[in-house]
Amino acid sequence: MTNPLLQDWTTPFELPPFEAIRDEDFAPALDAALDAGRAAYEAIAENPEPPTFANTIEAMELADETLDRVAGVFLNLVGADATPAREALQRDYAPRFSAYYSEITNNRALWQRIKTLWETRDTLNLTAEQARVLMLTHRSFTRAGAALEGAASERLTEVKSRLAVLGTSFMQNLLADERDWFMELDEADLEGLPDFAIAAARAAGEEKGVDGPVVTLSRSIIVPFLQFSPRRDLREIAYKAWTARGANGGETDNREIARETLRLREERAGLLGYDTFADFKLETEMAKHPGAVRDLLMQVWEPAKAQADADAEKLTAMMHADGVNVDLEPWDWRYYSEKRRKAEHDLDEAALKPYLQLDAMIDAAFDCANRLFGLEFSPLDVTLYHADARAWEVTRNGEHLAVFIGDYFARSSKRSGAWCSAMRSQKKLGGETRPIVMNVCNFAKGDPALLSYDDARTLFHEFGHALHQMLSDVTYGSISGTSVARDFVELPSQLYEHWLEVPEVLEKHAKHARTGEPMPKQLLDRLLAAQTYDMGFQTVEYVASALVDLDFHHGPAPSDPMAAQAETLARIGMPHAIGMRHATPHFAHVFAGDGYSSGYYSYMWSEVMDADAFEAFEEAGDPFDAETAKLLETHILSAGGSREADALYTAFRGRMPGVEALLKGRGLDKVA
Ligand SMILES: [Zn+2]
Repeated sequence: MTNPLLQDWTTPFELPPFEAIRDEDFAPALDAALDAGRAAYEAIAENPEPPTFANTIEAMELADETLDRVAGVFLNLVGADATPAREALQRDYAPRFSAYYSEITNNRALWQRIKTLWETRDTLNLTAEQARVLMLTHRSFTRAGAALEGAASERLTEVKSRLAVLGTSFMQNLLADERDWFMELDEADLEGLPDFAIAAARAAGEEKGVDGPVVTLSRSIIVPFLQFSPRRDLREIAYKAWTARGANGGETDNREIARETLRLREERAGLLGYDTFADFKLETEMAKHPGAVRDLLMQVWEPAKAQADADAEKLTAMMHADGVNVDLEPWDWRYYSEKRRKAEHDLDEAALKPYLQLDAMIDAAFDCANRLFGLEFSPLDVTLYHADARAWEVTRNGEHLAVFIGDYFARSSKRSGAWCSAMRSQKKLGGETRPIVMNVCNFAKGDPALLSYDDARTLFHEFGHALHQMLSDVTYGSISGTSVARDFVELPSQLYEHWLEVPEVLEKHAKHARTGEPMPKQLLDRLLAAQTYDMGFQTVEYVASALVDLDFHHGPAPSDPMAAQAETLARIGMPHAIGMRHATPHFAHVFAGDGYSSGYYSYMWSEVMDADAFEAFEEAGDPFDAETAKLLETHILSAGGSREADALYTAFRGRMPGVEALLKGRGLDKVA
């Protein structure tokens, strides 16, 4: 029996042969791929020849070719089109993958070869890219604990494994609390809610097996309820339940998990020789030091808080005019803010939507990439993993660059959110390999499918990540495309969102689904003018979370994280009527794994650059300025992780960015 995952793929552009792949093919293919990887690493480690860059580092770059190919298909399908069988496989293989990578970093002979190369690097005549890959390989082994011996090495392995268990429990507790709570609504309680929110509340009621509409703790249901429900008593109950997730006592309480996690992270950093976990974590990021993160966050915090305080006064006055003569509370903010948005901007989502057709917005994203980088997109007639997924060939001057897969519609087999991933990454080592790049979103299906403005922004965002993969032009796969620092990776994506705000883009592509009429100028103006509305609130709730995250990891681990959180908020003067975007017991970015631990600031760090980078086009006098686009491609979009992020940015812009463009973009530059 042949396994299609392990055969040569003779399909167009060597796309995975989705039609032939069955779920039962994955386990044997993954096992074979892990075995092939083990054999390849073993051969490198046991090579009797002295280590060279080619026989060690380049050989390692190619050691996981089969695994990359098989896992590339498997992990993308588990995210975009899960079946119970695929989910069970994922639970089964997640610990096996992690054990596999530990085996590699704990291989003493392999580590010795890397160390020898690193110590003699000045004599090896390496290209700049090779020197970079050697540095990154040495660094990732060091940070994984390869240089530790004896008890310290064993303790680090224990700590990492305990942290993985705590992260999983944190997430499962959070999901349990989110699943368990709901509030039944009478028909009269629906007053004031827009149709889409009522429909969602009824659907949620059906799902919970309740005869009637309910409010749940899902962001897409509770936020509209807080925005639109005039029932202050119900808003208070819902808000309090929402912010109590992970802190309800009993088995699903996350507070003790947070405490133990912070203590073990501190120990992990100590074993590796760092003062604090934040120092360890930020070393490989663009920010480098906790102080740099704090400086940025405080520069944004002060004007955001001033704006929020001014807004709070206006909202309080509106509430008092309603005859509610008490202090403005967190469950009041969204409700009065929504009223104020209508009064000041007269922006109605329902009137906007027919102009934002999915296919037209895809065309808009493609059109901008054509004007900026000369890319052309032609639909491919190929069978993918799901009928809703579509593929295009991406070319420039007739030359093949990439395959782009767009999988835009929500379905129950897809995880929530939106993301960009590569089923195959660009590299030149071992023969030129061009990427297969996916954008996966959760837009509502329709005929034609219509987007909200936020959806359209998401489409542009993910397409910006896709460009980073498609334009990649490096030799080594480990530094290809989006393999860059976390606080740099959102630059291409957040930057691309700016083109949606260039008026000529919507003027050209936003046409009414029924009449074909372009979006009225007045509506477009109102839409663009409303972009910075309530930015004080949005910035405050985000920055407060980022500062608490930083404080948790920069200094001794707190014995009581909730008390430490309260201290931070008191110190920065958190406005009374705004809650943290994520508080400790449900701060999954920080506690359900360490991806964003002391890293929640990353979005804002990238925003400093994207705001400043877009200004480069404005300074050139043309949002499609060819010379600026060329610099962007050369130094950022094609460069992957081939240099340090600040060197890449400086090469593009001639200098590092200041925070001014970000404040202007958020409308916080003129706060009194
Ligand atoms: Zn992103």
